[in-house]
Amino acid sequence: MTTLQMFGTANDSIVDGPGLRYSVFVQGCSHHCPGCHNEESQPREGGYTAQIEDIVNDICENKLISGVTLTGGEPLEQAEGCLELAKILKEKGYNLWVYSGYLYEDILEGKPSPAARDLIDVCDVLVDGPFVQALNSYELKWKGSSNQRVIDLNETRKQGSIVLWQEEELDFQIPESW
Ligand code: SF4
Repeated sequence: MTTLQMFGTANDSIVDGPGLRYSVFVQGCSHHCPGCHNEESQPREGGYTAQIEDIVNDICENKLISGVTLTGGEPLEQAEGCLELAKILKEKGYNLWVYSGYLYEDILEGKPSPAARDLIDVCDVLVDGPFVQALNSYELKWKGSSNQRVIDLNETRKQGSIVLWQEEELDFQIPESW
């Protein structure tokens, strides 16, 4: 079975997408964005090697987790391993987000590899583009800088052009009898 070079994991993330999520931080990223939130994950050498099967088992252990986020590091630079992981998780019904420093349009053209395109085909949401320090704001949700896009991949596939992801608003009204 394929392995992933890993920086780490978090089994209780509420900052990498909606709901309680499991975040998979891969090791290695060639973008070298100044001000990167996770500089230690940039070198390709480093981290540890994990079996896909072990990551899946770890995710399944926490029954409260509804979504998994592939981040890093650059998941698309380990696209084959991430694709194998994503396919298994999709089959199990997990919602899948992926963060990448590559742009959606470039991924469609085969950057950094054809497997990267296959990977985003399996995912629900892509947060794309490099982190740009001058465009950083703590007001932004699910992304670090305003150039990045939170792309609804399901709607984008359906409509054939980029559709940004919209958070579902809970329509909660207090009943009159309260
Ligand atoms: S793409 Fe993400 S992980 Fe890679 S250098 Fe930029 S901010 Fe860091």
